[in-house]
Amino acid sequence: MLATDWLGTACQGRRRLQITVLPYCIGVSSAYIGASLNAVPLWAAHALAAWCAAGLLLFWALLRSDLTEHWPDPALIFPQVLFGCSAVVLAYTLIDASRGLALLWLCLLMLFDIHRLDTRQLVLATVGSLILMLCATFLHDRLHDTRIDLISEWISLGTGAVVMPVMRQVSLKSYQMRHQMLTQRAELASTVANLERASAHDALTGLSNRHHMQALLDEEVRRLRRTEQAFCLAIIDLDHFKQINDRHGHATGDAVLQAFARVAQTALTPTDRLARWGGEEFLLLMPETGLPTAQQRLEALQQRIRSHDWSREADGLSVSFSAGLCEPGGRVPLHRDLERADRALYKAKAQGRARTVLADRT
Ligand code: GH3
Ligand code: MG
Ligand code: MG
Repeated sequence: MLATDWLGTACQGRRRLQITVLPYCIGVSSAYIGASLNAVPLWAAHALAAWCAAGLLLFWALLRSDLTEHWPDPALIFPQVLFGCSAVVLAYTLIDASRGLALLWLCLLMLFDIHRLDTRQLVLATVGSLILMLCATFLHDRLHDTRIDLISEWISLGTGAVVMPVMRQVSLKSYQMRHQMLTQRAELASTVANLERASAHDALTGLSNRHHMQALLDEEVRRLRRTEQAFCLAIIDLDHFKQINDRHGHATGDAVLQAFARVAQTALTPTDRLARWGGEEFLLLMPETGLPTAQQRLEALQQRIRSHDWSREADGLSVSFSAGLCEPGGRVPLHRDLERADRALYKAKAQGRARTVLADRT
């Protein structure tokens, strides 16, 4: 199961191939060094080099063509492992001096991909290689002048057969622990992101909540003091919202709040920030905006809310809002500006609702 999850894509296969080119180069270079020292027949080094180069080129061509993308093992991990085993067995068979090192190379090879192979693949690759090496010991007399001690050779191959599964278990365990740790870290990061989102947003409307808007306002005041860049804010309150709840039910009231949040955004500019200030009250922050533009934007918002088809929420429903608009000067604490906007909102209610009233100057 783990193996099928981690078989990867052709792109991952290419990456694996790039990484494994180095060990192949080391193996082949060692053979040539051995040949230069007369410890390895030159033809054997050539044969090993040709085998490795041909295999690597074939894998490279297959993985580059993306032909494998729909194969069960698109990264060709198992075939690449089998090919590595074949190179080790070839070296073991042709190069007398490599016999002692063959098991080490086999272990390295298995260790490299141990987490990507399932038990069946691993057994097949390991046992297959060991059996081939065993056969090679029989061929040895025909290929080399020296006689080998078959018993000690078989004992070392048998040891390999025992060591390999133990190594797999240890390596798999550590891989699983690392995988689990990475998964938990990703889960934690996503939980933190969700918490951050939840702490800054209103659950019903998805708008910024009061706490987050307070931070945005503070930031805007700091900018105003730094750059004298004017900004406006408006407290918006839906008219006769209690009646909507009473007539159509609380669920419809919730749907109206959600729809208001959605529809309002379409009448605002991307830099405007709308927050749920509480209940059926919203706060609109308009950065880099002077009073005349802010008034126009609120008028556009009134139009947009008035013209929206509210019958989707409830038959015969109409929604309007009143707003108190103010342009903070940055000289007094922001709560004073909010109080001014609030007083303007009450004036708007008193004057008959569905309108925006400009706050008095401080
Ligand atoms: P006005 O035009 O003067 O603002 O009248 P209003 O009815 O809108 O104001 P009032 O303060 O009397 O009532 C506000 C209502 O909004 C009361 C409250 O139950 C309702 N409300 C507040 N939060 C929610 C909410 O999240 N969902 C729903 N459905 N109703 C809410
Ligand atoms: Mg209210
Ligand atoms: Mg209201």
